[in-house]
Amino acid sequence: MRKQLVAGNWKMNGSRESVAALTEGLKSGAAELAGKVDVAVFPSSIFVQRVADTLSSGEIAWGVQNICTEEKGAFTGEISISMAKDFGCEMILVGHSERRSLYGETDAEVVTKVRHAGKAGLIPVLCVGETLEEREADKTMEVVARQVQVVLNEIQSEYLEKLVIAYEPVWAIGTGLTASPEQAQEVHAAIRQLLTEHDADMAARTRILYGGSVKGSNAAEIFTGADVDGGLVGGASLDVQDFLTICRAA
Ligand code: 13P
Repeated sequence: MRKQLVAGNWKMNGSRESVAALTEGLKSGAAELAGKVDVAVFPSSIFVQRVADTLSSGEIAWGVQNICTEEKGAFTGEISISMAKDFGCEMILVGHSERRSLYGETDAEVVTKVRHAGKAGLIPVLCVGETLEEREADKTMEVVARQVQVVLNEIQSEYLEKLVIAYEPVWAIGTGLTASPEQAQEVHAAIRQLLTEHDADMAARTRILYGGSVKGSNAAEIFTGADVDGGLVGGASLDVQDFLTICRAA
């Protein structure tokens, strides 16, 4: 049985003050969740040390929202996988749609980053999802399958042992629109089928999260799908109570 995971992607939000309040609020609220659901947060990397100071030895894991394709050197502004590991990150977000669409991140770069995370023994959280245009053109599964398949094809299985996939329909991110529980389950089941064709054991253990306007008020319904193993939460993860409500619903 897969343990549910709820992760908060804080994106480019927060100040020293708000991050301290959020992290401390989550730490005290998470005690009741211990053992029931895995919880993680992805702060902006400038706040990782602050988050680590509060959350170390606690229940909540943390990670960064992106890493560099290169391992070290003259890459101004980038963060390497070894730096993330050094700061106690357990998870690495890879291929978020904002990185793909705003920064031109390609499938090839996504593959490299997932491989770095897997090789370092960390958990790559691979984000996939279709745009509204692609959904309306009936291309949802074609797009999502391409984004998943390239990772399965290119990366040796020992580096995919901890892989988590986050299905985030681009049209549902930050828009207030969510996929219906049926729409989410349909895509999650199709992703699981792709994984099964690759490796049945891997398919059984890989957690597939849903992301896109998840809130305390809709989480329980979205999480009912048999192949929905938790959520990747943006806006609502900046509110301690709303995020904890989502964690309880998983
Ligand atoms: P929202 O929950 O704000 O729609 O963001 C989802 C997301 O992009 C998480 O990675």
